[in-house]
Amino acid sequence: GKNIVGVVLGCNGYDVIDLGVMVSCDRILQTAREHKADIIGLSGLITPSLDEMVFVASEMERRGFDIPLLIGGATTSRTHTAVKIEPGYRSGSTTYVIDASRAVGVVSGLLSKTERAKNEAATRDEYVRIREQYARSQDTKARTTLADARANRWRADADAPLPRAPSFIGTRTFDAWDLSDLADHIDWTPFFASWELIGRYPMILEDEVVGEAARDLFKDARAMLKRIIEERWFTAKGVVGFWPARAEGDDIAVFTDDGRTDELARFHTLRQQIKKSNGKPNLALSDFVSEGGDDYIGAFAVTAGHGELEIAKRFRDAGDDYSAILATALADRLAEAFAEALHRKVRTELWGYAPDEALDVEALIAEQYQGIRPAPGYPAQPDHTEKATLFRILNAEENAGMALTESYAMTPPASVSGLYFGHPGSHYFGVGKIDRDQVEDYAARKGWDVATAERWLAPILNYQPDRAPRSDAA
Ligand code: SAH
Repeated sequence: GKNIVGVVLGCNGYDVIDLGVMVSCDRILQTAREHKADIIGLSGLITPSLDEMVFVASEMERRGFDIPLLIGGATTSRTHTAVKIEPGYRSGSTTYVIDASRAVGVVSGLLSKTERAKNEAATRDEYVRIREQYARSQDTKARTTLADARANRWRADADAPLPRAPSFIGTRTFDAWDLSDLADHIDWTPFFASWELIGRYPMILEDEVVGEAARDLFKDARAMLKRIIEERWFTAKGVVGFWPARAEGDDIAVFTDDGRTDELARFHTLRQQIKKSNGKPNLALSDFVSEGGDDYIGAFAVTAGHGELEIAKRFRDAGDDYSAILATALADRLAEAFAEALHRKVRTELWGYAPDEALDVEALIAEQYQGIRPAPGYPAQPDHTEKATLFRILNAEENAGMALTESYAMTPPASVSGLYFGHPGSHYFGVGKIDRDQVEDYAARKGWDVATAERWLAPILNYQPDRAPRSDAA
C-alpha cells in the first residue's frame, strides 16, 4: 500500500500513519522519511496550527522533500493554503482539501502516475490566481516611518494614576485549580465555532439552522465535562508573576525588585506603522507602561492540558475520534477559562488594582474590566518568540509543566499565556503590517540578523523580503 502520514484515509486501502495532535514538525518529517511516505497530510483544528503548517511546508522544502502535501482541518482555507503555505514548498505540490471525505479523491489523483502532473499543475495555476486576488484585496494604505510612528505614540493622561503596586513581586504557582470553577468560566461561543457551528451561545442552541446540531454537541460536551471534573481527567496548573517595569523606547524593561536596577528581562513590542488620521496614536504595547513612574507588569501561563494527550489517545485507540476531539476541545475551553478566572483574581486580589470589581462571567467574556492580558502571537504582539521570555521569568516549565516547541507553540496544547497590563487606558489593537525600518530596528533589539526577523515576522511584513524566509531551526 501507499504510506500516508496523518490523514484519515484508512478505510480506502491506504496505509495511514496517524501521529495524533500537536506533533512537532520534526517528528512528522522524520516519520515520513522512515516510512517512505507518499503523501503528508496536515490537519489544523486551532488557529496556532496555521503558522505551524507554514513552518512544516518550509521545512519540507529545506529538507529536500518533494512528495505532495495535503492541508485540511477546521481552521484552514484554500486562501491560507495558497497565500501562506504553498509558496514555501516549491519542490512538491500543496493541495487544500475541504474535508477528509474529499481527501480520498485528491489523494488518488496525486498518486496516479498518469494524472498526477496534470492535477498538480491545475492546483498550482489555481493558487496563483488566488494569490493575485488576495494581493489585490490587501490594504495598500500608506505606512509611516518608525520614527514618525514613535513620535505619535499613545500617552496616558498625565493625571491618570498608575495601577497600585501588586501584593507581591515574583511568581506564585497554582498546582491544581478547581476544574469545576473553571467549568463555570467557560466561554462556549468559541467551542461551537471550533466545530464550525457559528453563532453566539446561548442563542445558538435555539438557532433555526444549527440549533439541533448545537444542542446535541452541547449535551455531549456537558456530559464529558462532568466526567472530566469527577474523574479528574485533567490537572489545571498555572503560574503568575508581577515585577517592577519601565518602558524604554518600544521595549519593556522588567526588574527583579523595586530598586529597578537589576534587569530580569526585556519584552520587545512592535508599533503600528499605518498612517493615522484624526489624532489617533500609533500604538505599541510598551505605551501602556510608564517611562518614568513606579509602574509594574504581570505575566501568566496556565494550562488545563495535563492529561489531555493521554485521554485523547485512549479514545483514538478505541476508535472513538469524536470523543478524542471533544476532549481536546474541552481542554482548550478549560485553559481559556483558567486564563479568565486567574485574570479576575489578579485584578481584584493579586495585583489588586480593581479590588471592588463585581462582574459576572458574561461581563468577563465581554472584557468589561480594567486592563488587558495580550498573548504573544496575537495582533498586539505578533512575534511568538516573546513567549520564550515569558516562560523564562515565570519558570513555566518547573512551575506549571509547560514548554515551548521549536515553533513556539505551547505544550500541553491546551495552554494560554500572556502579559498583564493594568493601566485603565490599555486596550487590544493590531500592529498590522510593518516596514523594513522597524524590522531592522526590531532585529537589532532582539539580537537577530534581519533575515531571522523577517522569518518570524513574515505574516506582518509590508514588503517582500530579499531572501525567501528560511528556517533557522535544526
Ligand atoms: N473568551 C475567549 C477568550 C480568548 S480570546 C475564549 O474563551 O476563547 C481573547 C484573548 O485573546 C485575550 O484575553 C488576549 O489574551 C488575546 N487577545 C485578543 N486580542 C488580542 C490582541 N489584539 N492582541 C493580543 N492578544 C489578544
